[in-house]
Order: sequence, then structure tokens, then C-alpha cells
Amino acid sequence: MSLMNGKQYIESLRKLNTKVYLFGKRVDNFVDHPMIRPSINSVAMTYELACDPEYQNLCTAVSGLTGKKINRFCHLHQSQEDLMKKVKMQRLLGQKTGSCFQRCVGMDAFNAVYSTTFEIDEKYGTTYHKNFVDYMIYVQEQDLTVDGAMTDPKGDRSLPPSRQEDPDIYLRIVEKNKDGIIVNGAKAHQTGAVNSHEHLIMPTAAMKEDDKAYAVSFAVPSDAPGISMIYGRQSCDTRKLEGTGCMDCGNCTFGGQEALVVFDHVFIPWNRVFLCEEYEFAGILVERFAGYHRQSYGGCKVGVGDVLIGAAACAADYNGVQKAMHIKDKLIEMIQLNETLYSCGIACSALGTETAAGNYQIDNLLANVCKQNVTRFPYEISRLAEDIAGGLMVTMPSQADFDSPETGEICKKYFKGPKGTDVMERMKILRLIENITLGAAAVGYRTESMHGAGSPQAQRIMISRQSGLDEKKRLAKKLAGINT
Ligand code: SF4
Ligand code: FE
Repeated sequence: MSLMNGKQYIESLRKLNTKVYLFGKRVDNFVDHPMIRPSINSVAMTYELACDPEYQNLCTAVSGLTGKKINRFCHLHQSQEDLMKKVKMQRLLGQKTGSCFQRCVGMDAFNAVYSTTFEIDEKYGTTYHKNFVDYMIYVQEQDLTVDGAMTDPKGDRSLPPSRQEDPDIYLRIVEKNKDGIIVNGAKAHQTGAVNSHEHLIMPTAAMKEDDKAYAVSFAVPSDAPGISMIYGRQSCDTRKLEGTGCMDCGNCTFGGQEALVVFDHVFIPWNRVFLCEEYEFAGILVERFAGYHRQSYGGCKVGVGDVLIGAAACAADYNGVQKAMHIKDKLIEMIQLNETLYSCGIACSALGTETAAGNYQIDNLLANVCKQNVTRFPYEISRLAEDIAGGLMVTMPSQADFDSPETGEICKKYFKGPKGTDVMERMKILRLIENITLGAAAVGYRTESMHGAGSPQAQRIMISRQSGLDEKKRLAKKLAGINT
């Protein structure tokens, strides 16, 4: 089976014995849990679209390893066109789900680990690349969702991993034996972790020799002994417990997900290990993964932005202000900001280059500029959406009040918009805007825009490193007639 549909994906999760905690208790059936299921539906959409003839050109690819048709989320990019299709696919999925669809972290990790293991093997004669190619073929054939896991909890950020008070605060190798390695630690903020079949672990930062026990990359099934996950809370998340179709959720079908993934003496066989103490490659792996994920945000956030802009335009209709010049101008501003992000995602893809291993890497400077813009523009787009929506977005009564025999008619009378508009439609659109800008989806649209794929300062460091400032000074001096 190399292409699953959404239903098959959901059923495949039931076969796993994933250990998930929510509100302090183990969840027996996470697949049907009302707070978790919307995030599963979002991942399921990545499978559904790949099976839909209308979207197959974007959402599938031909594997460079096997020549078979696979889901693009399992693909090693073979060209600049592949890189651009990835961004277009992410925009499409953002439009369809209005949330984070989680599967990109795995795709970005595949491409970063593929090229890096090739270079480690070239230097040390190791077999990491062969291990990884075998693993990739397995992932492609099974059409798996994989959590690309990079971020450690980090403890005291002024100290390197080996000098932390608690040695597990960065994930580390605690034992090596003839069969494999044993690891301890955790990965934090893991997008889609609970909904993934597997985890692909990477180090979180560049490492020095003292930190070599922390320079580790491997793949492991989500339900391997010793792995547990603690589900992250989201704003307004318990509204999802109020029942399907609840207007108050804003978007009760789809959502994102983050979790803390804990590794308690987890055994990894050697054929699943892709980096083990070759510390000088940790920074390269981090840089490549971060670059790909910064490119990704030029797609997914743009798709969610499309939904938010559409919702703001609908709110203007329901408020009767759609013809006001300042409203039209605000919508134009939102579109311009959103398309700027898309331009960055496409640009860093169009200038991608082939790696020594043969897959394609984005232009790293432009990918970092892309993500730096993402740390700002969704906030401005959200501000404008809230401006257009009006205060009712955060003061309106609940669906229960609209349904109540005692208060329903009063609510409908006083919250009605222009003649010919439906009061409940107006409320639904406002709740959707609330969901994306302040509610559960805001994790993926706003705060993740700031901190996902690295916080703003991480991009500024990369921009500074790659800016070629000396060359710019040389250009200026030449034109100014300065010969020093
Ligand atoms: Fe994909 Fe965007 Fe979610 Fe990252 S934040 S996993 S790029 S949808
Ligand atoms: Fe993310």
C-alpha cells in the first residue's frame, strides 16, 4: 500500500498502542477523543487530497527511491518544482483545514536527514545514509505520518546540554551496545506527535565535543516501550467537548496539536540510528531542517490566512460595511501581506539547489526571510480581521443561548445584521475569526507563527550569517570611488 486515504489513516492510528495523557489521565481511545479528533481530521486531509484526482498533481509525487507514486508528504524533493509544489500543497491544506495539518515536520525532517546522513557517511564511512534510505522506503510504502522532532525542553538556556542540572533536559544517549542505543529525555512542543505513526528525532542545536551524547538522530515507532506523550492545552479547547457542530468552536472539524514526548530508556536498534555522536553534523542537520520548515510557513500560514481574509470579508458583509472604503482597504492590506508570505515561500523554493545526496534544499537566506516575515504578518492580518469583525466576536453569547427557549429569540433579535442576512451565519463567521486569532487554531496561526520553526532571533542569526554584508560594502565602495 503506498497511498492511504483519510479513513485508512484514522484506522491505522487505532492499531497503535500510543500512550497519551490529557488532563492528568491516560487516554484509552485518543482517536475518538473530542479534543484530539479535530487534529486527526487535519492530518487525514493530507491523505484524502492525495487520493482526490483534482489534487493528485500537487499532493502526490513519484518517489526518487522506488519510482512509485507516493504522498508528497513522504517525498524527497527532486527539483525546484518539487519544492514549489510542496509550498502550494501546504497553502491548499491550510485553506481546507484552517489549521495546522501537522504532517510537514516529518517531510522536512526526511529531507534534512537524507542529505546530512549522506555527508556523514562520506566523512566517516558509516552506514547512516543506507539506514535512512531503507527507512524512507518503509515510510513511503506504508504512507506513514512521522513527527519530525527537534526541540528539546532546554532548561537553562545559558548552558549547553552537558552542563545542565538535569542531564535529560536535552535528549541523550545513555547507553550504546552491540544491538543499538538507549535514549532518555524529551522533545517539547511536538506538532502532530500523538497523530504520528513514528518519530524522527534530530538534535536541537549545534553541539560541541562535550555534548556528543546529545548529537543523536533516529526513528522510532510512536508506541515503542518507554515513550509517552502529554497533550498540550489550547485556548478554548474544552469547547470541543460541547458536541460536534458546536458553533462556539468556530471550526469544530479541524485543529492542530502539540505534545510533550517523553523518552524513558527507549531502545533504538542500530538500523534506525542516523547520527550517533558525530557532533559536528548536529548544527548542519538543524540548519537544514529549520530551513525547510521556515519555507513551509510560506505555504501553510498563507492558506490559513486565506481563510481568515475570507472570514473577515464575510464579517464585513454580515455587518453591512462591505462597501466602506476603509474596509476594502483593510482587506487589500491583508491580501498584500498574505501574498508577500507566499512570495517568500515560492522564492526560496525556486532558488533551491541540489545537495550532494541528490535531493533539493531551499535557498536558506530567503527561507529565513520568509519565516521572519511570518513572525510579523499574521499578527497584522489578525489585527485587521479583528478590526473588521468588531467587538461582538468576543462578547457574543453561546450557541446554548441562541438555542434556549428563554433567550434564543432575544439573541436573534439583537444580534441580527442587515436585512436578508442570517443571524446564525453571522455568529458562525465571528466564531471562526475568534478561533483563528484567539482560539485553538491561534496556536497554529499566531503563536506558532512566532515560535514554530525557530523563534525570530534564530532567523535573524541566519540572515546575518548569509547576508554577504562585506560584498555589499564592496559594491558601495566601488561606486563611491573608494579603493580600500
Ligand atoms: Fe505544517 Fe504549518 Fe503545521 Fe508546521 S505549522 S506542521 S508547516 S501546517
Ligand atoms: Fe510548525
